[in-house]
Amino acid sequence: MKKKDVLSVKNLSKIYTKNNSTPVNALNNLNLDVKQGEIFGLLGPNGAGKSTFINILGGIVIKSRGTVNVWGYDIDKDPRQVRASLGIVPQEVNLDPFFNPRKLLELHAGMYGVKRKDQITDEILRLVSLESNADSYARSLSGGMKRRLLIAKALVHKPPILILDEPTAGVDVELRKNLWENVKLLNKIGVTIILTTHYLIEAEQMCDRIGILNNGNLVALDTTKNLINKIQTKIVTFTTSGNKKIDNIPLKSLKILSQGENKITVSYEKNNIKIDEIITHLSNKNINILDISTADGNIEDVYTNLTKN
Ligand code: ADP
Ligand code: MG
Repeated sequence: MKKKDVLSVKNLSKIYTKNNSTPVNALNNLNLDVKQGEIFGLLGPNGAGKSTFINILGGIVIKSRGTVNVWGYDIDKDPRQVRASLGIVPQEVNLDPFFNPRKLLELHAGMYGVKRKDQITDEILRLVSLESNADSYARSLSGGMKRRLLIAKALVHKPPILILDEPTAGVDVELRKNLWENVKLLNKIGVTIILTTHYLIEAEQMCDRIGILNNGNLVALDTTKNLINKIQTKIVTFTTSGNKKIDNIPLKSLKILSQGENKITVSYEKNNIKIDEIITHLSNKNINILDISTADGNIEDVYTNLTKN
């Protein structure tokens, strides 16, 4: 069965207009769908339009053009249902430092009209691994804990879709790992995840599909697997039996990256050369190859290629 689209965006544009300043085209004719149960990542450099997109979903920014449908509801016709379907974790940490996590979640649930008996405060605290901090002042929590508390806040009304805007910005490596584990756990219990990040490696590890945004334009949209397959650059290291060096290998796109200690490392573009051609060339130069190891470039290459201009 085809999974249903839980978010459908068509021709979405945003132009910020301020008096006395030139208009900013923050989103340009954006089209994308997110499917139920997936982890979707929106990648892009600073200023790409990621937060604008998320803030439109959250009703904080008003779109200039296009349609947005969330969980079957149109954002113009049913803004309340859209709001009820989404939990949004904003980029900026804004927590009242004088409340403890439990109190904060209860207040927030109240704001969403969740009745006391329907509140799942302890369950949420457990989900984000804050159960032992439930009664500490928010101001005494570490940066990572505050981030997790923001996620908890976004979950009080049990939204089927959770959106995180750069959740790991400014969070150290260890806590980041922990944060992602929590997000994965939420996904496992059925929550669809949409996140933005500029940590490519994380998007690669976390997301089923990735969209790449640059200057308000969606420059790529594919499964993480397909994006990685599109990576053209291969890096190969040959282990050789002697220390014989070569001047150059006259094959299109081939670069010698390093030589020495019985090793020759080269890079080349997959669509220009087959590895056999390199091996033939080395053999013709009387270089005896003992072992070959290859590595793909990473998604960073795709990203750099797509966003450079
Ligand atoms: P990202 O989250 O990817 O870094 P943003 O959505 O924050 O990008 O910003 C996209 C563009 O819109 C940037 O050029 C930014 O300066 C501009 N922008 C964002 N918010 C506003 C605003 N409130 N008024 C005017 N311009 C804005
Ligand atoms: Mg942003």
